[in-house]
Amino acid sequence: MNALPNQIVIVGGGTAGWMAANLMAHQWSKLGCNITLVESKNIGTVGVGEGTTPFFQGFFDRLGIPESEWMEAANATYKCGISFPNWITTAKTDSYFHPFYSYIDSPQVPLFFANANLRREGLDVDAHPDDYFVTSKLAAQCRSPIAKEGNHQRLDYGYHFDAGLLGEFLKKKGIERGIVHIDDKVTDVRLDSNGDISSVITVNAGELIADLFVDCSGFQGLLIQQALGEKMVSYQSQLFNNSAVAIPTAINGDEELSSETVSKALSHGWVWHIPLANRYGNGYVYSNKYISAEEAELELRQHLGEKAEGVKALHLSWTPGRITEHWKNNCVAIGLSQGFLEPLEAPMLNIIQRSIENFVELYEKSEFTREYQQEFNADINSLIDGTRDYLQAHYKLNGRDDSQYWKDCRSNISQSKELKSILDGWIGNRNFDQVLRESMHNQVYFKTSWYCILAGMEHFQQACKPAVRAGKRNHQRAKEACLEKASGFIKHRAQLMQVYNS
Ligand code: FAD
Repeated sequence: MNALPNQIVIVGGGTAGWMAANLMAHQWSKLGCNITLVESKNIGTVGVGEGTTPFFQGFFDRLGIPESEWMEAANATYKCGISFPNWITTAKTDSYFHPFYSYIDSPQVPLFFANANLRREGLDVDAHPDDYFVTSKLAAQCRSPIAKEGNHQRLDYGYHFDAGLLGEFLKKKGIERGIVHIDDKVTDVRLDSNGDISSVITVNAGELIADLFVDCSGFQGLLIQQALGEKMVSYQSQLFNNSAVAIPTAINGDEELSSETVSKALSHGWVWHIPLANRYGNGYVYSNKYISAEEAELELRQHLGEKAEGVKALHLSWTPGRITEHWKNNCVAIGLSQGFLEPLEAPMLNIIQRSIENFVELYEKSEFTREYQQEFNADINSLIDGTRDYLQAHYKLNGRDDSQYWKDCRSNISQSKELKSILDGWIGNRNFDQVLRESMHNQVYFKTSWYCILAGMEHFQQACKPAVRAGKRNHQRAKEACLEKASGFIKHRAQLMQVYNS
């Protein structure tokens, strides 16, 4: 292992800052590395970010913190996947579910792939993903991804949580681990003669010197962008959405609790609906080129109905994109300072977690070796670009004609060659698995996710040949197996009570 930094200064105390602080402390504190986190309460955090992918399970596992400790503190719930209603208003079924895939699905999934490929050939068979994945049934039945006693199936799953409360929990844990926390504003960043950051200047705590700086200062990228001059590469031409308005609503403590994020298309974007233990998180993600913030808030309020009356709205905006050098000189950017795509599919905490984990691993090997920096930057860029492609596919495949926004999203020709080859390769006679393999180097989402979105959004030619018996049998077998397996999982609310009370 190479020499570790003696002193790390992290600028920013949002989710990214505290995730980085905890993972770095876990890895390096015992080895004599000191960590200081400076954040400005007056500036505050972005305050949203309520959904994760299954990758997030590994974050708390690594820190050795069980669900029973953190979930209640963050009003967290379980997440089995995401449903997408209304993206195709003309389809037979106007919604599909993007499941978190687990080993339990392995008997049904080949039946799904087989039917999807029959359907690609023009046969009239069922290829809608919802009947082939157990998590889809769990979400529909308000079950958790935790098996009943005696059932030893273990699923991959994500979480929903209150981002502010999660930040508070991580802060408490970080301080217990010895991280020095300063509430102060950074007003200046000093560089030395070789371009490294030598210190940051704060209003009250003076100069903070370190050998490694972590930029978690959010959209403004105080260190990486403003001090080190990293430029944002805009993805606005691929991803139109650049704004959101969020309004939480009350939850009835007696009602069944769903275990999915609902991402429902509206006139100029989509709205998230996320069940937490004590409320729903809702937010309309849209492009301000097509509607104003006032129009978006009005549409969201109409969508939510009387539950939203009197509740204050939070407006946010960003430019979708990323920087190119996330690790530059003695500074690594983690979180919104690296860039942001948009909230669809909730990929950002995944990008944050992977960035920290990869960085820690490579730093130990490298101690600022340029080659490792390049490897890190290339990996993170590929992760973000692969995510961007999957997100853009939702817009390219939409089937709505109610606004110019949706028509423009569909006809948008600004896309990566990998995305184009996947969308084109699905239509026609090519072996689709081969198409995916060819663009796999840039794929963050794997085969099941691509089949789910393409089949779920009915990216098929008109079915012109009658169904074959094998196709009907595949569907029936998969559906029965999923329903049977789902019955072996605990209801969501009951499972939460168990975790919260343990
Ligand atoms: P922030 O939360 O903005 O924190 C920045 C920190 O820097 C703050 O502590 C601030 O005080 C500090 N700071 C800034 N300037 C100074 C200064 N001069 N001096 C001292 N301190 C300073 N992600 C997901 O994974 N899932 C989701 O469902 C999801 N939904 C989202 C929805 C929306 C609308 C948006 C905009 C984002 C969403 N995200 C989501 C992204 C997620 O919110 C962020 O990635 C995550 O919260 C991390 O943010 P951050 O810590 O980088 O930045």
